[in-house]
Amino acid sequence: MPAEFRYRRVLLKVSGEVLMGDQPYGIDMNTVAEVAAAVASVASEGVEICLVIGGGNIFRGLSKAAGDMDRATADQMGMLATVMNALAMQAALEKIGVQTRVQSALTMPAVAEAYIRRRALRHLEKGRVVIFAAGVGAPFFTTDSGAALRAAEMGCDALLKGTSVDGVYTADPKKDPKATRYDTLTYQEVLAKDLKVMDASAVALMRDSGIPIVVFSIREEGSFRRVLSGEGAFTVIS
Ligand code: UDP
Repeated sequence: MPAEFRYRRVLLKVSGEVLMGDQPYGIDMNTVAEVAAAVASVASEGVEICLVIGGGNIFRGLSKAAGDMDRATADQMGMLATVMNALAMQAALEKIGVQTRVQSALTMPAVAEAYIRRRALRHLEKGRVVIFAAGVGAPFFTTDSGAALRAAEMGCDALLKGTSVDGVYTADPKKDPKATRYDTLTYQEVLAKDLKVMDASAVALMRDSGIPIVVFSIREEGSFRRVLSGEGAFTVIS
């Protein structure tokens, strides 16, 4: 692995909204292909990559679309949405020659492998990208928690959160022109200031596991690679 990379094994969390591209809903395969290309360029140089994709572009348990459905059922639908996104990402990665396995926290053997920790570790060692679908496999959680859990289980060196904003800001930069980006934050600051980076439970798990969270914009070309090299714009929470 080139010395330029800071981390040997990472978990990249991409929210479902990123995969919408400029569409209002659903999966934009051009955007999925862009994310896949970014992953491929780094995977080919020996960085071991786990992926967790959200489902918010299709269905969220707490959304209006769920109406008055009970939360657990709505969340199960949300988890199924993450499986669809995982399959789209797998297709895009394999199209460009990156060996990929999808492991789902909800078993559906005709579609994906079941999540088995030791098997996932073996895939990573063999240079395969592993996509973890269906979050933690239980309602009342989110894919942020799923990402944190898998990052801890896989012994990742960092959890990279790829969003459409290049880090954590003092206020919403789309609404407040005076907002500035934090270069670094502590887990405690994120929790105490209630900064909307990830769910509090995901942040707490990363704190307890000593795994840094790096927030960056995955929409900018080459940003994943730059972040792994410690270049460009991002916020590190540690
Ligand atoms: N979800 C769940 N348990 C999990 C992960 C996800 O119930 O472990 C459901 C939940 O309804 C959530 C939806 O799946 O709203 C989609 O995930 P998320 O909102 O985290 O997606 P993102 O915001 O990253 O696109």
